[in-house]
Amino acid sequence: MIAFLRKIFLVDLLKGLWLTLTYTPEPAFTFQYPRERRPTAPRFRGLLRLQVEPGTGAQVCIVCDQCAKACPDDLISLGGHREPGQKLKALDYFDFNLSRCSFCGLCSEACPTKPIKALIMSEDYELGVYSRQEQILRIDEMYDGVKIEQYTH
Ligand code: SF4
Ligand code: SF4
Repeated sequence: MIAFLRKIFLVDLLKGLWLTLTYTPEPAFTFQYPRERRPTAPRFRGLLRLQVEPGTGAQVCIVCDQCAKACPDDLISLGGHREPGQKLKALDYFDFNLSRCSFCGLCSEACPTKPIKALIMSEDYELGVYSRQEQILRIDEMYDGVKIEQYTH
């Protein structure tokens, strides 16, 4: 009987409408992207980037291969060589297959360099390209500071 009366008097419908009405006076939470950009969260995980020493531009990566080993999908491939008399290896290539990356951050977490982390998850998120080949990022495209596409219309 109660269920029947609820149906007759449209109780559920009115409850739903009331809930909608309570939210109506609040301003719309909308960004006019790409003109307006929502700030990224402090621990946002965007495109992987390599970093250099800020003052000198020197290589931070020690070519330890830990990021490549940590990646569950085997998306990172890197290599380097040691110059005679040098302690640190020079990074020769760093290939990253963005197309299958799940942005889990395991590679960046495994990177051991301090105080500057060689491999970070940046705030870059505009990653659209027109071919799969463009999603294979080579060493030059991995360095922080490479121009980021900013869509304007
Ligand atoms: S973020 Fe995760 S999936 Fe992407 S390269 Fe790093 S470890 Fe691999
Ligand atoms: S874990 Fe860091 S230091 Fe080691 S190879 Fe990867 S980017 Fe370079």
